[in-house]
Amino acid sequence: MRVTKTVLLSLLLCGCHRGGDPQPATAPQPASTRTPDAADSTPSSCGPQRYADVASQALARVGGTGAVVMLDLETGDTLLETGTQLTTPTPPASSVKPFVALAALRAGALAQDEPLACDGTWSRDAKLTCFDEHGAQTLTDALASSCNAFFYEVAARAGAPALAAEFTRVGLTELASAITSAGDDQARLVATAIGHHDARARPPELARAYATMLTDDDPLRAVVTPGLEAAVARGTAQAAAVDGMKVAGKTGTAEAEGDEMYAWFVGYAPAEEPRVLVLVHVVGDGAGGQLAAPIAGELLATWRGCETRDV
Ligand SMILES: [Zn+2]
Repeated sequence: MRVTKTVLLSLLLCGCHRGGDPQPATAPQPASTRTPDAADSTPSSCGPQRYADVASQALARVGGTGAVVMLDLETGDTLLETGTQLTTPTPPASSVKPFVALAALRAGALAQDEPLACDGTWSRDAKLTCFDEHGAQTLTDALASSCNAFFYEVAARAGAPALAAEFTRVGLTELASAITSAGDDQARLVATAIGHHDARARPPELARAYATMLTDDDPLRAVVTPGLEAAVARGTAQAAAVDGMKVAGKTGTAEAEGDEMYAWFVGYAPAEEPRVLVLVHVVGDGAGGQLAAPIAGELLATWRGCETRDV
């Protein structure tokens, strides 16, 4: 029975090797070529329509199926909501790992600098795989690498009530319900917690969840954000980098139909004092770091070009 369950879970979670956001071999657009000046070649066109144009052109380049959300973190205003996938719930994948970390930290189940080892697998009641052998990692390392084994363990330690409470706190109520529904099935619980299995979210609510995390009065945020900065600086989200401005964020990748994947990136800038949030969701042939992160970088460069000109 145990073997059968493990095999079944392996099948269900067979996207883990891709779902963990492996480092893209090549970034579609090197950050060094994406400068604010280049993005702002027509200074008179700054504003929502400019972001909409950049987003639609970028989505068209990767097949056209996706969504983009931009939020002004200072006012709470929506700067842009566009795309065919805007209201479609799909697995948010690793983009929700910051909330798993917050749940565990809040529950006292994870110490800030506690290293956890990944040997390519994770096992408690069930055995699941990671997409790599990441070795000993802190939370910051694991957010940068998107190690699944680290977050399986963190999710199991936090437990369903703490995870559901955290997802509810940031407005991901459908995901919170999926956590509660997992019951005592530990493999289902931890897989759902990192955005797979029964986990579902829509682009605007995931963007708002990040906005809540970044703007509410929560001292634990400072424990998580270094990992989101590291993801862009040296991890799976390097394609979101913008010259002259520190970007932070998290990728996510889940299997869709056929060879397609649900690619996600949710990021913000400037990392030191977040003012704008960008979520990019693409259904296409590639991981979050390959398909979604470069588009976010393009939009953030456009935003910076406009902001710089306004000063
Ligand atoms: Zn790992």
